[in-house]
Amino acid sequence: MKLNTADVIVVGGGPIGAYAAWQFAAKGLEVVCLEQRKANQAASDIGAFHFEDIAFERTGVPRPKPSQVICDYPDVVVHPPQHDKFVRVSGIHTWALDLTAFIRDLRKSARDAGAVFRYGRQARELLREGNRITGVVAAFGEKEETYRAPVTVDATGLVRSLRRQVPGLDFPGAHRQFNVYMEYWSDADTPPPDGIHSYLGPNTWTARYPGYWIAGMGRELPLDRLKAEHALWFGDLYPGKKKLQRAVTGAIPYAFAPPTLVTDGLLVLGDAAATNKPFNGEGIASGMIPARLAADVLPSAVKAGGSRVALWEINRRYYTDQGAKFAFLLAMGHGLLSLTEDEVMAAFDAGLISAEDLRQTFYNYTVQRPILEWAMPLARLSRRVGVVRKYGAALLRAVQIARHVEKYPTARDFPVWATKYRKLVGHFG
Ligand SMILES: Cc1cc2nc3c(=O)[nH]c(=O)nc-3n(C[C@H](O)[C@H](O)[C@H](O)COP(=O)(O)OP(=O)(O)OC[C@H]3O[C@@H](n4cnc5c(N)ncnc54)[C@H](O)[C@@H]3O)c2cc1C
Repeated sequence: MKLNTADVIVVGGGPIGAYAAWQFAAKGLEVVCLEQRKANQAASDIGAFHFEDIAFERTGVPRPKPSQVICDYPDVVVHPPQHDKFVRVSGIHTWALDLTAFIRDLRKSARDAGAVFRYGRQARELLREGNRITGVVAAFGEKEETYRAPVTVDATGLVRSLRRQVPGLDFPGAHRQFNVYMEYWSDADTPPPDGIHSYLGPNTWTARYPGYWIAGMGRELPLDRLKAEHALWFGDLYPGKKKLQRAVTGAIPYAFAPPTLVTDGLLVLGDAAATNKPFNGEGIASGMIPARLAADVLPSAVKAGGSRVALWEINRRYYTDQGAKFAFLLAMGHGLLSLTEDEVMAAFDAGLISAEDLRQTFYNYTVQRPILEWAMPLARLSRRVGVVRKYGAALLRAVQIARHVEKYPTARDFPVWATKYRKLVGHFG
């Protein structure tokens, strides 16, 4: 392989790009991964992250050695948002691991499978021949390098460096995101309880690690307002002194996936494609699944020159399953976040949010309830017109979007389907 030509150029060596490079190389493809940071720079700044036990099977990532585990939790406790009310979602075994080490291991697996990493390369511009994307131009210090391949992958995270250059991959709301703010505490006067606790409504969570806790909040707010809300919420919940060890800021997508993950010569994955589980947790595992689907399709698609039609099978496999489920969850999430904290409490008390729903969203990325099981709690809430109206509207819209996404079209029928998709998700713009 000449370094500047390959079967696949993956842009972005974060968790999804590194994993994709590994999976593609394991299928015998020549893969070059371009990462803008230096090899010895931390691959991620968030420190610890959570990875559900079931994700090891789904992604093929080997289970960690004991020395790699910060801690593990047998279940997750969800509050609605008051602390004294909760459901324990058991069986959601979750590992806390160090993200920098995790990415380093993914990159090693990719290199062992034959992928080549080129660090300090910032992809700038897509190369095109007519409508077809044929690679990228990357800056390397003062120099420019050209990389060519039948398929280029945008795995650049929320900056979406390449996706932004392709008209048609956006719609109103495509750039919405949650800012995330996490504090690491020690020596707290009133420490959070053991395990992982997640609060619906304020969208906050705490997790206890050996010797410290994290307290996080993710919302669609500017960072300074988010920090103020964080101080207010956690100040009330855990008053008294605590030592701030470090603070972490970041962002996650709060947007629907584009109508297609592929164009001629381009595939979009991970946060760049908003194929990550909406809301907290499992962003990494759920972003890996489309990369795994893509690995099954790419060998033949590359042989066929990386055309949009050859890559289309990735769309079909993604949208008819995880894509439809995430569209449902995201539309429901918008509904949930439109409720006041008091309304979330009422919805919780009436049985609109149950341990079984939460278990299903963790395990299967979906909520499957017979219609009566929605109607009963809604009827119980008949005096809370605001909750019924907001939740009911979200439910109807979520079902409508999910049904549309499930019926993902052929490449030929795509334009009509995409117009309706943009209209449906544009509502959230
Ligand atoms: C505070 C916080 C906590 C989180 N906790 C969890 C958790 O517990 N569990 C979980 O599963 N998920 C968690 N997530 C979400 C998770 O971090 C993301 O879903 C995941 O990092 C997305 O991976 P990615 O590879 O798509 O993008 P990124 O991680 O953003 O990686 C993109 C990579 O591309 C590189 N890049 C960007 N532009 C270019 C360019 N032009 N050229 C070359 N390289 C480029 C970047 O340097 C980076 O290395 C959390 C997120 C935040 C912010």
